[in-house]
Amino acid sequence: MRQLFCAPQTCVITNSCAKRGAGFRAEGFVKRSVIYSIDAKDRIVDVDKAWARFAEDNGGNPDPSAVIGHCLWDFIVDEGNRNLYRCMVQAVRERVSPLHIPFRCDSPAVERHMTMTIAPGSLGEIAFICTLHYSFDRAPRPTGGIRSEAATIVECDGCHRLWTKRGWRNCWDIITAGELTIDDRPINVLHTRCAACSPQRLPVVG
Ligand SMILES: [Zn+2]
Repeated sequence: MRQLFCAPQTCVITNSCAKRGAGFRAEGFVKRSVIYSIDAKDRIVDVDKAWARFAEDNGGNPDPSAVIGHCLWDFIVDEGNRNLYRCMVQAVRERVSPLHIPFRCDSPAVERHMTMTIAPGSLGEIAFICTLHYSFDRAPRPTGGIRSEAATIVECDGCHRLWTKRGWRNCWDIITAGELTIDDRPINVLHTRCAACSPQRLPVVG
């Protein structure tokens, strides 16, 4: 289900490119974006036509009513990725400022290099604008990445900051500093509490 909302929606672009031959594909001036949005309670309220094409191309239900009204997080199975996206959405709402993220979102035989803009509305709504920039063909790999190649993050269950070499920081700072790569790997989450939260309940890091 993650494939529905992690922005591989631009599979619709890849599918058309695939007919032009293998290898590198620069999207250049024909960038196309897929847009979907959630309300202040994280319910999906809108998906655009490109999303519907993606769903159809990937064997899913292209009818927006299959997803509209449902919680976005229900569609992101991997816990680490889900936590990360929740953190980013929370940060965007708090700062009322858009966040631009380079990320990878691959399908089994295509490596896609994309950007996502997470943009806030005035009532807590969030729009996700996902754009494919270029892609490579590759030997098929499992959708959703390989568990043994998973990245690991350490998250405070109290404040949801992440542990880094520079201490506990929120995901906004980490991502805008380019210190966290979002690719198609699963993410393992190690749960703990930072010293500022509840040092008695769980092992403390930092
Ligand atoms: Zn904390």
